[in-house]
This record gives sequence, structure tokens and C-alpha cells, in this order.
Amino acid sequence: NATLQDFDPEIAQVLDRELGRQRDYLEMIASENFVPRSVLQAQGSVLTNKYAEGYPGRRYYGGCEEVDVAESIAIDRAKALFGAEYANVQPHSGATANAAVLHALINAGDKIMGLSLAHGGHLTHGMKLNFSGKLYDVSAYGLDEATHRIEMDKVREQALATRPDVIIAGWSAYPRHLDFAAFREIADEVGAKLWTDMAHFAGLVAAGLHPSPVPHSDVVSSTIHKTLGGPRSGLIVSRDTALAKKLNSAVFPGQQGGPLMHVIAAKAVALKAAAAPEFKERMERVLEGARIIADRLTSPDAIEAGVNVVTGGTDVHLVLADLRHSPLDGQQAEDLLHEVGITVNRNAVPFDPRPPMVTSGVRIGTAALASRGFGAEEFTEVADVIATALKGGADIDALRARVAKLADSFPLYEGLAQ
Ligand code: PLP
Repeated sequence: NATLQDFDPEIAQVLDRELGRQRDYLEMIASENFVPRSVLQAQGSVLTNKYAEGYPGRRYYGGCEEVDVAESIAIDRAKALFGAEYANVQPHSGATANAAVLHALINAGDKIMGLSLAHGGHLTHGMKLNFSGKLYDVSAYGLDEATHRIEMDKVREQALATRPDVIIAGWSAYPRHLDFAAFREIADEVGAKLWTDMAHFAGLVAAGLHPSPVPHSDVVSSTIHKTLGGPRSGLIVSRDTALAKKLNSAVFPGQQGGPLMHVIAAKAVALKAAAAPEFKERMERVLEGARIIADRLTSPDAIEAGVNVVTGGTDVHLVLADLRHSPLDGQQAEDLLHEVGITVNRNAVPFDPRPPMVTSGVRIGTAALASRGFGAEEFTEVADVIATALKGGADIDALRARVAKLADSFPLYEGLAQ
């Protein structure tokens, strides 16, 4: 019963240093967040010891009475939060949730149509090295070359031409709302199922600050760990109970064995948090922060230095900085911001002239800093630090000091010792 520190100091040190890194840097990777301590506690609990193949009340193992309660609570909370009739909280991750959705809806060899990876789609939406690109016949749709938006008349044209069995709405890097009603109409017109992957914007949907895909889609999948702010894992919801059996068996035994009951308990906690009024207030700060950053990166001095943002702004928790006209490429911008103390990821912009490992953009998200407590004032300061860095020639030490001041003013996991 030795503590981690006593038994394995090497790993204990990694945890300690990582806590330090999360405290000292400003986390702006759009797919990341900080979970509340209650989530850390549930996830680091004895529930990790339990095998529970099956579903609540129908398990293949004895001793599931307590984990059944946790999973049933998580299911009820997910349904209530997203206005769904069905929820599956077992997917280990967003990718396995997505694999299960396709497995439930169609057969290998059938046709899918999702946003291309290069234009902001996800690997599981049909990328050629992913299971989705190998098992299914893919025709990706892209963004409009002039507006850099998903134009629904083009999506419709392509759907009529290729007649997909599943149309996928959802993205990993796209700064605007989707028109779910238009996706529904197109799906109905061509006889396709509509699957929305709301992994990125699920927190905004939960807060009522983003249109919900649930009423329009046959199936909606998500991660819990991005804007939703919970443990790293996946979720499937639907308003169509007729799909319940197929979806359940696609997750287990289709994709997975034993569910991660400690993660499911942590998911239940996160779903409770997301239903609280404070969560809506936090999501409002997320959106405000992203708008402040977009405004700063499109101000005259930024534009003059070759910086801009894709689509000229944002409706969501992220901004895609467009560096096609800047001397910095995406990799250099990511490295520079790291030096300043801000963590982001480089990201292709639509029709990017540079290769995917370099890119001409960075994706900047505000969810994690909003969880840390940032509001308009702090986001204005961060936006100025980012703009000053990206314009080039800045005093890095001075910017690093401004970042350190912000980080120090918003302590993270105070008193937590790993
Ligand atoms: N779907 C979308 C839209 C995503 O952006 C991501 C993650 O980046 C995933 C699914 C996959 O989630 P995970 O990394 O948990 O497999």
C-alpha cells in the first residue's frame, strides 16, 4: 500500500511536473480543458477495479450493483442535458464512439460523406488511414474556396451526386455554427442517415449557447473532455429509441469489452456540472474570449503584419489564425507561442499551401482558460500577447512575464499534490 511517491517516484515526478506545466502555461489547445477536482476524484477511484461488460441490470459479471447506479445516473443526466431519448456513456473515447455509430448505422463498403480532414473534419469522418476511410466508401465535402464556410447548396449537390448512406456533420477545426436543419433536409432528400459529431461544441450545446444537433440528427456522438469539461471519453445520444439496440450492441460487444466504470462515474459528475447555472456562465466566457481573440487578430496592425482569422471571426470556442500572408508558418507560430507560455496547436487553414506537418495556421481555443476563471479582461490581455507575438519582432521575455502574471492570478488545482 505504498503511495505513488514511495513506490514509483519516476512516475510521481512526471505527474508533479505536468501539474506544474498546466499551472504555468496558458492552455489554449481547443480540444483541451481542466476537469473539476470532483471528476479527478471519481476517475482516480476504486471503480477502476470493476469489470462490468453489458449494461445496467444486464451484466456479464457479478458485483455490479454499485457501478450500475453510476452508469444509470450518467445515462439519465446525458439524456436530460441534451434532450435525448437514448444515451450510451460507455465509449472509451470520441473515436470509439464514432466507430460504434458507423457500425450501428451501416455496413462495411457503404458510403459516407463528411467534412474533409484538410478542411477541419476529424480522422473518424473518413480519413483514408483511419478505420472510417478503410471500411467505408468516402466522398468528403469541403469548404467553399471564397467564404471558407460549409455552403449547404454545395453539400446538397455533392450528396445528390454521390448518394451517401450516412452524412456526417461536425468538425475538429471550424469556427462557425452548422445548419443542422439543412443537413437534415439533404439527408432526407438522398435517403441518408444524419450523424452529428458534436465533440468540440457539446459544452456550448449543453449551455444552450449553440444550436443543438439532437432534434435534427439520427445519432449524435461526442467527447466529454473538450468544451464539456469532463474526463477523456465518449458519448452517444439519440432521440430515436428504435436505434438503441443497434447502438448499444455496436459499442459492446461491437467495439469494446469492459467499460471503464471509473470514467463513467467521472462522466456522471461532469454531466451534473454541465447542467448547473455556473456552467452556462463559464460557456459565455468561453464564447466571449474567442470573440475577443478573433477581434484582436483582425485588427489593422495584425492584418498589416499578415495575420488574419479564418472566416473573419468565430461563433464558437475557437479561432483559426490564418498565417498564409505572415512570414511565420504554423509550426513557427506554435513554437513561438510556446516560448511565450501559451500552448496551442498548429492547424491547416482551408486550401493551405503548406504541408500538413507545417501548416499556415494555429488553432486557439478558450475553454480551458475559461475553466480557470478567465473573463473578458484576461482574454483581452491574452489576445494582445498572442497578436504581439504573431506580428513578429516582439520582446519574448516581456510577453512571457505578462503570461506568468495571468497564470499566477488564476491558480489551478490549488493545494493539489499528485
Ligand atoms: N470527433 C471530433 C470532432 C474530434 O475533434 C475528436 C478529437 O479530437 C474526436 C472525435 C476523437 O476523440 P478522441 O480523441 O477521444 O478519440
